[in-house]
Amino acid sequence: MRRWNGWGDDTLAYPLPAAAARFLERLVGRGTPPRDATLADVMAALPPSRLPAHPLVSHAPNVRVRHARGQSLPDWIALRSGRVGAFPDGVAYPTTDAEVRDLLGFAAAVGAQIIPYGGGTSVVGHINPQSGPAPVLTMDMSRMNRLRRFDETNHLATFGAGVSGPDLEAQLRARGYTLGHFPQSFEYSTLGGWIATRSSGQQSLGYGRIEQLFAGGRLEAPAGTLVLPCFPASSAGPDLREMVLGSEGRMGILTEATVRVTCLPEREDFHAVFFPTWERGLAAVRQIVQAQLPLSMLRLSTAAETEMTLTMAGHQQIVGALERLLAARGVGGGKCMLMIGISGSNALVRLARRAALDIAGKHGGVHIGRAMGRQWVKSRFRAPYLRNLLWEMGYAVDTVETAVKWTRLPAMVDTIGTALRTGLADRDERVHAFTHLSHSYPSGSSVYTTYVYRVAPDPDETLSRWQALKAAASQAIVAHGGTISHQHGVGVDHLPYLACEKGDLGLAAILRCRSQVHALRMRKGRFGGAAL
Ligand SMILES: Cc1cc2nc3c(=O)[nH]c(=O)nc-3n(C[C@H](O)[C@H](O)[C@H](O)COP(=O)(O)OP(=O)(O)OC[C@H]3O[C@@H](n4cnc5c(N)ncnc54)[C@H](O)[C@@H]3O)c2cc1C
Repeated sequence: MRRWNGWGDDTLAYPLPAAAARFLERLVGRGTPPRDATLADVMAALPPSRLPAHPLVSHAPNVRVRHARGQSLPDWIALRSGRVGAFPDGVAYPTTDAEVRDLLGFAAAVGAQIIPYGGGTSVVGHINPQSGPAPVLTMDMSRMNRLRRFDETNHLATFGAGVSGPDLEAQLRARGYTLGHFPQSFEYSTLGGWIATRSSGQQSLGYGRIEQLFAGGRLEAPAGTLVLPCFPASSAGPDLREMVLGSEGRMGILTEATVRVTCLPEREDFHAVFFPTWERGLAAVRQIVQAQLPLSMLRLSTAAETEMTLTMAGHQQIVGALERLLAARGVGGGKCMLMIGISGSNALVRLARRAALDIAGKHGGVHIGRAMGRQWVKSRFRAPYLRNLLWEMGYAVDTVETAVKWTRLPAMVDTIGTALRTGLADRDERVHAFTHLSHSYPSGSSVYTTYVYRVAPDPDETLSRWQALKAAASQAIVAHGGTISHQHGVGVDHLPYLACEKGDLGLAAILRCRSQVHALRMRKGRFGGAAL
């Protein structure tokens, strides 16, 4: 069963090698396991539902608690401490477009706010009910998960928008196709959620971000049904899909989405290359991406992340042998790992591999083959499970992410790292931070930084530490000209920084454009506190 207060299936765990536990203790100090609230504790504190009965709406306490929070660190702190705040008053599981329309009518009649809910993997507070006088109805889309139409000639597939990553891929793979969208939250996140948050999958370099994959769909809103037809391309004025992409549940409920699919690749390889320094790795990635080679992934880790990855791998003897081999080829302390993904026909993969490794070699990169790549692919959706174990050992883990032009990237990476590492110095606490670039473009790259700090005995202090770190990193991002989010969206946590990026006029245009389509009366506080 899915964990109610953490990540993933509760029968699965991601073990931490003893050497990695010692490494972490050396970096940030010994953690103290927190005393977590139980599900029974949280259910006991649940206020009565303010929603009248409806045949499609569950008021079950267990269901309401499980839909109260997403996966951000503040969400974890709230759930683990039992201080959850607001809950949905009811949760509906529609199975058809007609049921969605029925529920919109019900919500309007009883004055309820609606929160569309995909997989609940939001990491910025998208799906959390806000306290207020209106009852909250969460609309869980997970039962609208079928392949509705498959158009082989045009390479288009239409799914119910609540389909999860594994269900979507399984239905496509059975026909010899793939969407190629693999966010790390793949196990639970849904097609509707990906579109509503402008998500980016790990192989977006080859398959494209969700913006490129989303071809059309159907949105149910109180004003009616908005049909987004699929065109190969169109110059007929503004593209309505752009209003739905990144709409974060405020425009209406996406009930179905048509996506552009690709034949399963004949071959898919992941190669590891080690560079002697971060600067040389950066130069190689920029040159490779600007050469527009047909690759599906480039993922470059800083020296700190490379060290963490090798320590987490656990196999000390194998890692020792690898390090000796690399040292003999001039790649020692300070080394940075690049993972290169290539998907396509045998001939294309061979060609792209040669061209990419050739550029990497000119920057001092040492290619060590595919073994690490195979390991990475095997565990790529398992890594978030580690967050459960680390929390139970007394460590909180979170990430910040952005995208910025190449010219500003090196200074930004340094500043974010320093802001996080020193962010709790006044509290005498250490923070470990490490970064990778996972989505690179000819003009710049995403920057993804993970940080670890100790959970405090008082949950309010744990939250306050997070607030200090999040603010320091977000200010560094804005100061260096980065976007406040490359892939996670705005939600609640990034709202204070949105105006820096859009400007007052831009923000006003977004609000105006949304109100013109009679957006749902959703939860407040996302765009300058306005209920849209
Ligand atoms: C461990 C972990 C790893 C992650 N890795 C990545 C990653 O690699 N790349 C990435 O982009 N993101 C990542 N994320 C963030 C998150 O998974 C994405 O934002 C994802 O797109 C959310 O999808 P969801 O279905 O879970 O949506 P939810 O979290 O349920 O909802 C997100 C938003 O979408 C809206 N929404 C959902 N469904 C619909 C619908 N049918 N109609 C209208 N609105 C809807 C909701 O109202 C909400 O505003 C990660 C999160 C976690 C916890």
